Amino acid sequence: MNDIQAVLERCGIAASEYTGGTLRVASPVDGGEIARLHETALADMPAIIARSKAAFLAWRQVPAPVRGELVRLWGEELRAAKKDIGRVVSVEVGKIVEEGLGEVQEGIDICEYALGQSRQLFGKTIVSERPGHRIMEQYHPLGPIGVITAFNFPSAVFAWNAAIALVCGDPVIFKPSEKAPLSGLATFRALERAIERFGDKAPAGLAQIVIGPGALGEALVDSPDIALVSATGSTRMGRAVGPKVAARFGRRILELGGNNGMIVAPSADLDMALRAILFGAVGTAGQRCTSLRRLIVHRSVKDRLIARVLAAYRNLPIGNPLSAGTLVGPLIDEAAFSMMQKSLVSAKGQGGKVLTGGERVLADQFPNAFYVSPALVEMPAQTDIVRHETFAPLLYVLSYDDFDAAIAVHNDVPQGLSSCIFSNDMREVELFLSTAGSDCGMANVNIGPSGAEIGGAFGGEKETGGDRESGSDSWKQYMRRTTNTINFSRELPLAQGIVFDDPTPR
Ligand code: NAD
Repeated sequence: MNDIQAVLERCGIAASEYTGGTLRVASPVDGGEIARLHETALADMPAIIARSKAAFLAWRQVPAPVRGELVRLWGEELRAAKKDIGRVVSVEVGKIVEEGLGEVQEGIDICEYALGQSRQLFGKTIVSERPGHRIMEQYHPLGPIGVITAFNFPSAVFAWNAAIALVCGDPVIFKPSEKAPLSGLATFRALERAIERFGDKAPAGLAQIVIGPGALGEALVDSPDIALVSATGSTRMGRAVGPKVAARFGRRILELGGNNGMIVAPSADLDMALRAILFGAVGTAGQRCTSLRRLIVHRSVKDRLIARVLAAYRNLPIGNPLSAGTLVGPLIDEAAFSMMQKSLVSAKGQGGKVLTGGERVLADQFPNAFYVSPALVEMPAQTDIVRHETFAPLLYVLSYDDFDAAIAVHNDVPQGLSSCIFSNDMREVELFLSTAGSDCGMANVNIGPSGAEIGGAFGGEKETGGDRESGSDSWKQYMRRTTNTINFSRELPLAQGIVFDDPTPR
């Protein structure tokens, strides 16, 4: 912890920036203050947005493969600074060292992906119904992109969005979570170094960062000059952002809360299921949008599996995430701890039985931080509290007898982000992946719900927002499509065979 100032400076964040400001940043590791950042004034937002708009006019003219060179350089900068940025993530949000580093690796991976994408912004050529005609589609840059991120992925989610946006020809304005601005700033500084190396072809204002509360995000949401708002966070935030962007006919990517389930069937490999349950439910102290929250297990294997989960839970190394061997770090803050306690009270009130965990631990060692023992709660049914996302290590256990009923229970929640099944029965697996199976944006087989690769499209249905980012064809959202019909004949036939002759007497 003591080295954090040196780490921040190596990341390009000067002492004058992280001291003397109004935004207090505390580490969830011990509750101690690590920075006082200077906040962006709300009154500055119009000028910031205007700079982005001006940058767009220049950047859209730079050929996409040349734009790709910028993200290649960003990937190099992230690679060089991986250890330091990972450290900032661990200190600022309490991720264990491996997970802090993994987050920066996602940034490196998406830069490499985006570099390849910069040569593959393909449109289609379509046959025309008219002779001597051809139809084609082109993808053009869209405009300034606002990227609003959550505290729990303070580095990677910006990289997912910005790397793709930049190769698509769009400038970015980044609004990191006020709970994790340093990780965002460190990641952004790596991009600034890449822009510096890239040279004159990058216009001023191509990438900007704004530090402060949700109101700065609102300024992006409300501005008709922000062509796409990509917002990651709670469903509560999405409910505020979605309708506002829609009202001005803007584009949005909403990446909101999840309530991710795992079905464990009688044929499941329980060794594998156990490991997936542990990483899914207690990794990042249950603070991933894809964390495992509901275990729907066949009654015939429930006792065997739960006994093993309980044994593992009792031996979990909970503690300082910067220490080797720790698997479970702290919650982000006291509010997260209170929410978890409230959910536990509700669960008990709704017939739940706490099998283990839920209490605060290490309070003597870290009186100003909030470490908890991950909770396992058996529920008689999927009650209201189970249908609600509690952003903490709280795993509900439900049992099933009939596979169709298990799928029905699985889908009977408002969120639809990630899901998985552990089964070696081909019929169950295929049914789970079919139209009648999981209704989530991500459905996995014999692997847990979290820890997605950047190559796939990431996102979920229902209250999760319905959008996708990162890999696959997500890039299309950062571009506008034009359909072009070209007539190379000497006639002017109309589509649908319509005859509309020139009435001028000859
Ligand atoms: P949050 O909703 O409190 O904040 C997220 C961001 O939105 C912050 O930057 C905040 O300043 C901003 N914000 C808040 N209100 C706003 C408004 N009205 N207009 C514009 N911006 C506003 O979320 P959090 O506590 O930081 O993150 C945890 C939540 O995020 C969980 O629900 C988790 O599931 C979700 N999450 C989802 C994904 C995903 O990809 N689906 C990824 C990470 C986290």
